[in-house]
Amino acid sequence: MAKQSSIIVPDELKSIASEGEKSIASEGEEHIASEGEKRVMLHACCAPCSSAIVEWLLAHGITPIIYYYNPNIYPEEEYLTRKNESKRHAESLGIRWIDDDYNHENWCCAVKGLESEPERGKRCEMCFRYRLLATAKMAKAQGIAWFATTLASSRWKNLEQINAAGIWAAEQVGGVSFWAQNWRKDGLQERRNELLKAYNFYNQLYCGCEFSMPKA
Ligand code: SF4
Repeated sequence: MAKQSSIIVPDELKSIASEGEKSIASEGEEHIASEGEKRVMLHACCAPCSSAIVEWLLAHGITPIIYYYNPNIYPEEEYLTRKNESKRHAESLGIRWIDDDYNHENWCCAVKGLESEPERGKRCEMCFRYRLLATAKMAKAQGIAWFATTLASSRWKNLEQINAAGIWAAEQVGGVSFWAQNWRKDGLQERRNELLKAYNFYNQLYCGCEFSMPKA
């Protein structure tokens, strides 16, 4: 008997996803969305966390549009390294990749007063809201009804906080829905680690902001 998937696909994305696994584009081959193809705006925090999710979506007939928006990352050099890895990943699969601005100063204003919060605390909650609000807006601007985030693949992050932030962002924008999903299930965590090695991705040592950097 086939193993039951624990990834819950929203009904609107289901008609194609339920047809079963499809072959995904091989390296260098462009993944061209066919008419009526199901799409999801996927906020990518980094290439390693995106890899298994993107692979799963493509294999289930859902086209991810990768949205790279992470003004939380500090310093800029680290930001550029992570961003370039995300771009390299998308290009290798021929999927669309959208880059948004890097304004770390504005992000710092948004988390002002929360600098000494621990990870998984109120600063992270604000950080998720900040990035997912932009993702919801981008999804709407691009006419994509669903958005999701690869933040939800990290076992170091609080899934409930991420889901609450995504639902909140969808409510603020209207006309778009957040796909709340535990992307660590169905072997995706293990697959992430395999793809990390296969692509030889840069693997960051801290979450992203200056407050999460390892103390010297
Ligand atoms: S620790 Fe990570 S999630 Fe939390 S505020 Fe910093 S960058 Fe954002």
